[in-house]
Amino acid sequence: MAEWGEKKGIDLLGTADWTHPLWLKEIETHLEEDGEGIFKVKGSESKTRYVLSCEISNIYTQGDKGRRIHTVFFSPSLKTVSKINAELKRRGGNLMSDGRPILGLTVQEMCEVVWGIDERVMVVPAHIWTPWFSMFGSKSGFDSVEECFGKYADRITAIETGLSSDPVMNWQIKDLEKRAIVSFGDAHSPKKLGREVTVFEVKEDKLTFEALKEGFKKEGKGCRISYTLEFYPEEGKYHYTGHRKCGVRQSPEETQKKGTSCHVCGRPLTVGVMHRVDELAKGEEIKAVKRVSEAGVVGYYHPEDKLRPPYVMMVPLQEIISEAVGVGVNSKRVQEVYEQLMASLGSELDVLTKVKIEEIAKASEERVAEAVDKVRQGKIVINPGYDGVFGEVKIWEKVGEKGKVKGKTEQQTLF
Ligand SMILES: [Zn+2]
Ligand SMILES: [Zn+2]
Repeated sequence: MAEWGEKKGIDLLGTADWTHPLWLKEIETHLEEDGEGIFKVKGSESKTRYVLSCEISNIYTQGDKGRRIHTVFFSPSLKTVSKINAELKRRGGNLMSDGRPILGLTVQEMCEVVWGIDERVMVVPAHIWTPWFSMFGSKSGFDSVEECFGKYADRITAIETGLSSDPVMNWQIKDLEKRAIVSFGDAHSPKKLGREVTVFEVKEDKLTFEALKEGFKKEGKGCRISYTLEFYPEEGKYHYTGHRKCGVRQSPEETQKKGTSCHVCGRPLTVGVMHRVDELAKGEEIKAVKRVSEAGVVGYYHPEDKLRPPYVMMVPLQEIISEAVGVGVNSKRVQEVYEQLMASLGSELDVLTKVKIEEIAKASEERVAEAVDKVRQGKIVINPGYDGVFGEVKIWEKVGEKGKVKGKTEQQTLF
C-alpha cells in the first residue's frame, strides 16, 4: 500500500479493515503515529500516511423491509479501535470474516456503539447509491438520511459517492445539500487504489485526525476539499437498470416507459443508480458548469453553490494505456509503459492531470499521450454498466479503420 500510494500520488490512505484481528495486528506492528490520529510505516521514508478506517455491513429489518447498509468508520486512535472491536464481538459480530464484518445491529445502534465509546469517530455512509448495500440503494436502502440514521442524522456530515455516481448526481438531492461529498477508491488490490480520490487542502503543516474531520464537513474550518477525482459513473456496475442473466439494460428514460420488470423473464430488474437518483431528486435538476484547466483537464463546477468543490472525471492510467496500445489491461506491455511513465514523470495522478501532453509522448509514445489528452477533455465513449456488469470505456470508438476518431461523446447524457 505504501509503495502504490506513492506511485499513484496519494498521500493519505485508509488502512481499511481495522475490525479484522489479523489485519489489525499488521497495523499495530507496522504503523506508528505521526501527528495525532495519522499514521506512517515505522522506520520508513515512505510519504504515504494512513488513517484508521474500516467498512461494516449492517443487515437488519426496519419498517418491514430488509436493509443492507455499508458504512465507513474512521477511528482517531488504536485504543478506540480495540474498544469498538471488543464491543462488536460482545454483540455477536464475527470479526474474522473476510471483506467486512456483517452485523445484525441497525445503523443507529452502530452509531450508539461507536459514539458511546468515542465521540470523535467519523461515520460516513459508503457508496450510497449501489442497489444492494447502501443508504439510498434501490433494493435495501432508505429514502433519506433521517430515515436511516434517525436522531444521529445531523452528525452525518459527509457521504461517499461510490464508483457508480458522481457529484453532480448527488447535487440533485436536497437531503445532501448541507453535507460534504467525498470519493474514495474502494480498492480491492493496491493497483486499484485511487480510482476515485478526494483532494484536501490542509492549512496546518501536519495533518491530524481532528483537522481531517473538518474536511469531511461542507463548511469545515482549516481543512477543506479542493476537488474530487471521479471514476466515470457509467463505468460502475450499477449505472443503468437491468437484468444481467437476460442481457437486459435500460436507461432511466427507457425504465420510465417500460417499468422495472424484465421484459424477457418477468422478474424484477435491478434498478440502477441513474434511475434511483431521478427518483429521489424529485424533479430537481442541477447542471454542472464546465471549465478547462491549463493542462486541458475539464472540471465540473456547481452553477451556484460556491461551497461545493468541483470535480474531474478520470480513467485509471492502466486502462488508458491498454486502450492506446491495444492489449489487455493486465498484460506485461501495459505494466511496462506504466512503470516507464512513473519512473520519468512522477505519480499517476500527476500524469493524468498535470504533466504536459508532449512530455507524456516523449516518455512513452504518441498514442498514449493522445489517449490521456482525450480523457482529460472528456472525449471518450462509455457503454454503461448494469446489474453487476462493469461499464466499458472506449477512447477510440471502433468505427471504420482502427484508431479513427469520432468526435462524439456520450457524456452529455449525464446532464
Ligand atoms: Zn461496501
Ligand atoms: Zn430477465
